[in-house]
Amino acid sequence: MKIATAVSQESDPQNGLTHFHENRAFSFLLAKRAGHAILALVVAKIFNLRRTLTLALRRRKAALLRHLIVPADLLRASYVERFTTCGKANCACAQGQKHGPFYYLISNLAPGHILKFLLRDQTQQQSAEQGVRHYQVHWERLEELSQINAELLRRGEPLKPQP
Ligand SMILES: [Zn+2]
Repeated sequence: MKIATAVSQESDPQNGLTHFHENRAFSFLLAKRAGHAILALVVAKIFNLRRTLTLALRRRKAALLRHLIVPADLLRASYVERFTTCGKANCACAQGQKHGPFYYLISNLAPGHILKFLLRDQTQQQSAEQGVRHYQVHWERLEELSQINAELLRRGEPLKPQP
């Protein structure tokens, strides 16, 4: 099965839910911040560091390094909830009562190569949800560290601890 890597997003302000469409073939209903669906990060959070004092940057960097322990359960993937129709004309899903929810782990490996499978039980679903979340927290800390290093470099500061 081929799925496009691009994911678009539509917000529905009435119920606080976000609809994600992947290649127009699948529709994901994602509850914002509800923990039922977590999408893989595609853009970096931008940390505004230009006006931060060098000493403060160094302190933040030290704190980040203390917390940078690779989570053993990390998953670089999206955790998604999906409702489906089976195609039978006399089924309730044809009238809008879709089957589900079904939970999937989806990860883009390379263009045209997608890792995707159904998470069958609650244990699997919880592991997937946590693994995705732990990856994202770790990734965000790495990203902040990288942006601090870039800012220190811009100021002509050393990036490694001085002897
Ligand atoms: Zn059906």
